[in-house]
Amino acid sequence: MEDLWVWVPGTTGDANTKSIYKFLRGETKQDWTSWKKMWELPVAPRVRGFLWKLFREQVPTWEYLYGLRCGPKMNCEMCGIFPETGTHLFYACRFALEMWVSLARELEEEQWQDFRVGSEWITQTWSMDQARDTLIKTAIAATIWEIWKARNARVFQDRRIGAYAIARKAAALAQEYMQVAEVARRPVNL
Ligand SMILES: [Zn+2]
Repeated sequence: MEDLWVWVPGTTGDANTKSIYKFLRGETKQDWTSWKKMWELPVAPRVRGFLWKLFREQVPTWEYLYGLRCGPKMNCEMCGIFPETGTHLFYACRFALEMWVSLARELEEEQWQDFRVGSEWITQTWSMDQARDTLIKTAIAATIWEIWKARNARVFQDRRIGAYAIARKAAALAQEYMQVAEVARRPVNL
């Protein structure tokens, strides 16, 4: 099944989405400011749900499952060297680095020269141009989702997808979204 990428608020009655919105509007003591920005991205609810899990460190990586005593002690599926936490898989892993650099190149984003400065990299405002900013954040969301899919392809199908291919796909998805969003405000299957 193809992923539904572009999503306009109000076009779906996704119960999970509603409950998360409710949660985000609620009286949580944590600082969700930057996460709310991520939440405004026009990506599919399932991707938002995944990002939400990632921010809460609940993505079912090997390390997470091991912590719950639900799985074996395994190293990162992509590099095989370090424990597979969410931070490692999507940020610190050499595979992730290769992919973020490829994505920056695809988007010709010079600010990414030293974007690995901390966890804020993912939610900061990249550009004065709001459309450009949305494009980049959408590309980041797409990339995170594609990393997870690539990781699962290795785990479940023993299939390897290169970092460059993932970055290209994520950039293309984000750019396609921007074009579509300009033409018509409606959900689109990409
Ligand atoms: Zn790794």
